[in-house]
Amino acid sequence: MSSTDATEEARFDHAEIEPKWQRAWVEQDVFRIEDEVDDPAYVLAMFPYTSGSLHMGHARNYTITDAFARFESLRGNDVLHPMGWDSFGLPAENAAEQRDTNPREWTMQCIEQMRDELVKMGFGYDWDREVTTCDPEYFRWNQWLFTTLYEEGLVNRDAREVNWCPDCATVLADEQVEGEEELCWRCDSHVEQRELDQWMFTITDYADELLDTLDEMDGWPNNVREMQRNWIGRQDGATTTFDVEDYGAVEIFTTRLDTIYGATFFAVSPGHDLASELAEENDEVAAYVHRAEHEEDLPETSGVYTGLSAENPATGEEIPVYVADYVLEDVGAGALYAVPAHDDRDHAFAREHDIPIVQVVEPAPDADADAADIDVQEQAYAEDGVLINSDAFDGLTSSEARERFVEEFDGENRTEYRLRDWLISRQRYWGTPIPMIECPDCGYVPVPDEELPVELPEFIHTTGNPLDAADEWKHVDCPTCGTEATRETDTMDTFVDSSWYFLRFVSPEETERPFDGEQASDWMPVDRYVGGIEHAVMHLLYARFFTKVLDDLDMLDGVREPFTNLVNQGMVLGEDGHKMSKSRGNGVSPIHIIEEYGADTARLFIMEAAQPHKDFAWSAEGVESAHQFLQNVYDLVSTFERGGVEAGEVGAVDEYVAEEIEATAGTVTEEFEEFRFNHAIQAVRELVSLLRQYGNHTDPDPETYQRGLVTVTKLLSPVTPHLTEELWEMLAEEGLLAEADWPEASRPERYEIGNRLVENTREDIRDIIDVAGIDDPARIEIAVAPAWKHRARELARDADGDVVGTVMGDEQLRQHGEAAAAFAKEFIGQEHFDEQLPPAEAAETLDRATWLIEQEFGAEVVVYGPKNAPESLASKATPGRPGINIEE
Ligand SMILES: [Zn+2]
Ligand SMILES: [Zn+2]
Repeated sequence: MSSTDATEEARFDHAEIEPKWQRAWVEQDVFRIEDEVDDPAYVLAMFPYTSGSLHMGHARNYTITDAFARFESLRGNDVLHPMGWDSFGLPAENAAEQRDTNPREWTMQCIEQMRDELVKMGFGYDWDREVTTCDPEYFRWNQWLFTTLYEEGLVNRDAREVNWCPDCATVLADEQVEGEEELCWRCDSHVEQRELDQWMFTITDYADELLDTLDEMDGWPNNVREMQRNWIGRQDGATTTFDVEDYGAVEIFTTRLDTIYGATFFAVSPGHDLASELAEENDEVAAYVHRAEHEEDLPETSGVYTGLSAENPATGEEIPVYVADYVLEDVGAGALYAVPAHDDRDHAFAREHDIPIVQVVEPAPDADADAADIDVQEQAYAEDGVLINSDAFDGLTSSEARERFVEEFDGENRTEYRLRDWLISRQRYWGTPIPMIECPDCGYVPVPDEELPVELPEFIHTTGNPLDAADEWKHVDCPTCGTEATRETDTMDTFVDSSWYFLRFVSPEETERPFDGEQASDWMPVDRYVGGIEHAVMHLLYARFFTKVLDDLDMLDGVREPFTNLVNQGMVLGEDGHKMSKSRGNGVSPIHIIEEYGADTARLFIMEAAQPHKDFAWSAEGVESAHQFLQNVYDLVSTFERGGVEAGEVGAVDEYVAEEIEATAGTVTEEFEEFRFNHAIQAVRELVSLLRQYGNHTDPDPETYQRGLVTVTKLLSPVTPHLTEELWEMLAEEGLLAEADWPEASRPERYEIGNRLVENTREDIRDIIDVAGIDDPARIEIAVAPAWKHRARELARDADGDVVGTVMGDEQLRQHGEAAAAFAKEFIGQEHFDEQLPPAEAAETLDRATWLIEQEFGAEVVVYGPKNAPESLASKATPGRPGINIEE
């Protein structure tokens, strides 16, 4: 027993040590990474929008990547871990309006503040690679990429609907249109829809590859892949034509050509040419088309009969033609034949409008019973099956019919997509000017490379687009013919900025091109990408698109996907379990936590609270507990450092501790690799508690003890880098911990099973002492289960139904008679069997942990093996749960 100085727990002051080590990392260039390295690893968090200060979501996001980057770096990898600013966008314009400043000044102020906060959190970025999207040195490459894609035929200009305020005479973003009444945020006028020519990237050219590759992207969460699949929305189907009376042939698209014999009406969308034409002479149609344009919430089953009929090419029958809002304009051709028996929405419409329902597909004979007795008058049967009521084609399967009917009814196979081209025109100031010039003679001409960047004119306060009002800026000579021309006044969607920023980080100083393709191809793809689920579709799809385009333009060397592994971090909720918000007043700011407890505490709490993809609620107690744990570790090292731990001879206990140190390092390594930081920290906590017991109750081997403290320090360092640097120095280790080596160790085979056995046994002893009210246990006997019980358990696990029969069918086990039968019965119905150590190994494991039990309970401890256990004790034991006897 040693602990010489039991006076007061030593405590550290985070306000002193955190800035100290932040300075040391900068002074020694710890996070700077060369352009060309041996073992490139790329760890990236989605860069923040410059909103003014870090919120808890940022703190979590960046703690995850920082801890992982530090871990990878300690393991000897060359880690690229950069940070930058997504700094264009409408909110900066609004903030500038409110504060009577300009977007640039406001944005730069935000960046200063947020950078300062990131430094205070202890994040280790290579700040030499900082990228700011509103910097002309960055956005000139947006412009260059735009003109390059333009030359490659990947840019289109086409009319699209926009929100238009007639009073302000300006285009509004969706977020500037307020409420259900759709009022202008500035002047409360009714917002209208207006068609405007817009620039777009033809992402649809890449739809198939963007979709197909998703199947192979195992490092991405399934839900994100599914969201992208739905967004792309590929439908394999066919077209054919119906003759509409007085009008002519109308093309339809369908994925269910097999149901054509069941078509009982024909419908077009209110925007279809047929509807517009009819509206001119048919008042009812005109009224409905008007309603469809102006009413948001038309019922699903709304529609109007046109008085016309269409001829079904399969049956020759005439069916009524409707205009119906549920027919989508942009999916298929905006026209369809409706089969109420086999489509839910057609069914609902038919019921509402009294249209017959004719079944033409029935469940295949091998379909399940539920499907077999479906009544299509009641409910559509939307599955594939076998054709009926389809003339000569009865008996064909749905898929056979689809193939046959394309030829039979002069159709054509066609694939349709939900994905539309990426519209990038924004009629706003704070973005990258689109580098085009409109010449009355030449049309649109790209701004030549040598004239890039096209910088923004000075910001002015106007209801409209400040670029439009900047006369001097706007008027230029045509680069081709010299005629007076005008600049494009639209700016780019800020998703363009974020579609390639991860490439710019690789060579941020590059002046000849957006990035160095060779270096980028070495670093790419990003190994770990962490950010919010709100970017599941647009940002991540656009970045994938850009990467493919750049590879096709030979600016990359075979890099088809930007991000190998994607993690969407969960939310940090308020203490009340709700999303943090101003209105609820349940927000917690990272900077306040840093001030009160320090960044290490904030980081530890965040990482301990849950696995990265899960939500968790903020907890003042949790923060307090994280802080106390760090203080405990500090005290442990302080005590050791000032000679407060007495040395002893090396013995079995020291060997036990040495093995635990190794095993913990192995566990933490595996858990870090799997992004289970909370499990990793739990393992370190257990090691710390073991070391405390080791130091307090034995005279430890100083070398083992020190190794334990050093290992704890290293294992904690990715998560709590400041305190651990301090401990590293106290332990008189050389250099900076941030540049040390990770303790390479592997977890011994079946280590966890043994660990669980010891923990469960200790817990059982506590329970017995508690329940039996034992004050002062003198002797604790522990016996592992005999070999036959292990065998019985194995047979029970593998038994197919008859557990007792199987166990008793074994000759050896039959010798144990009643006891074996009773034991076997316990496994009836059990589905899950944890792996257990074989009896001799279990006894050995418990034997090595005897000292821990002795110390905890202050009693003599005896562990019996499977051969020498007294029968009374062994009979109570089961595999994984030893028999225990406690004497007072
Ligand atoms: Zn307005
Ligand atoms: Zn010209």
